[in-house]
Amino acid sequence: MATYQSAPDLPLYIDGQFVDGIRQFDNISPVDGHLVSRVAEAGEAQVAAAVKAAYAALSGPWGQLNVPERCALMHRVADGIQARFEEFVSAEVADTGRPEALARTLDVPRAIANFRTFADLAATSVSECCETPQADGGMLFNYTVRKPLGVVAVISPWNLPLLLLTWKLGPALAMGNTVVCKPSEETPSSATLLAQVMHDAGLPAGVFNLIHGFGPGSAGEFLTRQPEIAAVSFTGESRTGSAIMKAVADGVKEVSFELGGKNAAVVFADADFDAAVAGVARSSFFNTGQVCLCSERVYVQRPIFDRFVAALKERAEALKIGYPDEEGVDLGPLVSQKHRDKVLSYFALARTEGANVITGGEIPVFGDERDNGSWIRPTIWTGLGDDARCVREEIFGPVCHISPFDDEEEVLARVNDSQYGLACALWTSQVGRAHRLARRIHTGIVWVNSWYARDLRTPFGGSKLSGMGREGGRHSLDFYSEISNICIKL
Ligand code: NAD
Repeated sequence: MATYQSAPDLPLYIDGQFVDGIRQFDNISPVDGHLVSRVAEAGEAQVAAAVKAAYAALSGPWGQLNVPERCALMHRVADGIQARFEEFVSAEVADTGRPEALARTLDVPRAIANFRTFADLAATSVSECCETPQADGGMLFNYTVRKPLGVVAVISPWNLPLLLLTWKLGPALAMGNTVVCKPSEETPSSATLLAQVMHDAGLPAGVFNLIHGFGPGSAGEFLTRQPEIAAVSFTGESRTGSAIMKAVADGVKEVSFELGGKNAAVVFADADFDAAVAGVARSSFFNTGQVCLCSERVYVQRPIFDRFVAALKERAEALKIGYPDEEGVDLGPLVSQKHRDKVLSYFALARTEGANVITGGEIPVFGDERDNGSWIRPTIWTGLGDDARCVREEIFGPVCHISPFDDEEEVLARVNDSQYGLACALWTSQVGRAHRLARRIHTGIVWVNSWYARDLRTPFGGSKLSGMGREGGRHSLDFYSEISNICIKL
């Protein structure tokens, strides 16, 4: 078994300096419960100092850079991540216990792409302009410029720590803002390594600041209450989004929210059966079900229902649970004991609600140090009604409920009957059906015969409890900039 070492003490990064916090908290490995690192927790005065430094940096050398110069710096950050690729893999694996292969093929490459893509988009974006003839024969000439918003508070979750943090940092910095980031208390390592990369890339002091800590009554809440922040970009639970919205309401700060989901996958009898089984296994169990886009509600057309349930069971049972560096490992643990307790509480509730447990539903026993970790088995249920809490509430674990349906209108109504509106995956070989349904599903993203296939230029986000606004491509540039119109009478 490999051990995953990161720095034993993780500092804050404020105004270009690595500093201690007011106290430390433990960062525990979900693989076997060992202490990964001790993390500096930022006090309220330190959070205020980080925001003050970020505010001052807006009018320092950073504010004088032109767009190509700024974008060149962002490519230097991407180069810095590339140069320390394996350290980033180790940091991400240490905090999350995920398979190394996943960190190597998804998290770290996407972090690099997030800086390069938004640097290139910013460098090649053009503004709008229009001419407006006047009654007096004169002409108005209008054109837009993008100005930075100011200090952006970036608050990110633990499920894809580096990927989601850099998804916000890339466009925020490309648009000339300065940032104060608060990564999840569960996953502080890759963000701290990123602070070193930012420092070494030569970002002026105060442009990027990192504070560690918790949410309510700690660094997260302190950050949202700073009057000098211009906006909050947040990814996490819907209820946290609501708390942040209240915290910034008086100051009318801009918010970008990527929140929870209770996503559906719909499998029609005409679908490529094997592709649909493989696709739903991936969308339900990928990253141990800890992706906001995962499908926890699966609807399968009645003629293939029994065959589909049996095939998905076989797939789930074949998934290899194991150490991050094990050959061919598919699934790591859940992120923490606390999160596993939440998932287990839904496993108990499902039984009370009358679910048939097709597979899983329990903790695997290894007989080694992993029994101190937060492992869980992929789980499939059938037999619950659409009103069951397990079918309506986000669980955020490797679990799905499969339910039969008969026709398009019925399944459409059931898919849309949710407080969430993030993503949906349709599996069908009929192109017409795919187009017809996709535009009537109340989610920000619909995948057809695929799942979690991403082009970073496309809009990403959800409706209802799943969020507010869109990130991706020009949508990110729009959120992270103040678009001003300049009107000249010619
Ligand atoms: P969380 O809301 O508990 O925490 C997210 C971050 O917010 C953490 O850094 C936390 O410390 C901070 N925080 C908590 N309370 C706060 C407060 N009152 N003020 C300021 N900051 C606060 O979420 P999580 O458990 O880390 O992540 C899982 C959730 O994230 C799931 O609901 C998942 O669906 C969602 N998610 C959504 C997307 C998306 O793109 N829509 C992507 C990933 C995860």
